Amino acid sequence: MSKRLIFLGPPGAGKGTQAERLATVAAIPHISTGEIIRGAIAQQTPLGQKAKSYVDAGDLVPDSLILDLIRERLQQPDTASGWILDGFPRNVSQAEFLDRLLRELNQDGVCVISLNVPEEVLVSRLLGRQRQDDNETTIRHRLDVYHQETRPVIEFYRDRGLHIVDGDRSPDAVGATLQELVNA
Ligand code: AMP
Repeated sequence: MSKRLIFLGPPGAGKGTQAERLATVAAIPHISTGEIIRGAIAQQTPLGQKAKSYVDAGDLVPDSLILDLIRERLQQPDTASGWILDGFPRNVSQAEFLDRLLRELNQDGVCVISLNVPEEVLVSRLLGRQRQDDNETTIRHRLDVYHQETRPVIEFYRDRGLHIVDGDRSPDAVGATLQELVNA
């Protein structure tokens, strides 16, 4: 199985937690665009200043802010034996960009994992987190954005390495399934 993994799923599905665990075990970098953006906001970099209002509102930041960042990140030496992308691609145009980029970098073959969790479970999980963009209005909006923009990405990968995994289980149970998939 390819060690180039894309984690898809709505906010609250457990992508960050699972990506972190798997990245540690597989010794590959965990690349979370959300974390990169939150770091940029905290440090008030130009990216952070441009991204802040979108993140606060629960909207996607414009592709123009994200694509170069991914291009640079996937060319760092630590990506040679693989990577886990968490939070990217978030819409079909980002998925098309990633396709072209990976072809250009001769990195073909991705394993796409979509974590499935019922909506009411997502909302209660998100309300239990302490993130600034996790208030109820923003949560509902982020879920709408997910349905409109990100769900079509699952279709994009339907016949190309997509695995749908039940994310409504304990972190250990989900982690065990992911481990099996990667070892297969
Ligand atoms: P996350 O931590 O993945 O939930 O991302 C938090 C926020 O960062 C999102 O609500 C978006 O505002 C922004 N974000 C993260 N990844 C992307 C992306 N690939 N494209 C656009 N916006 C993103």
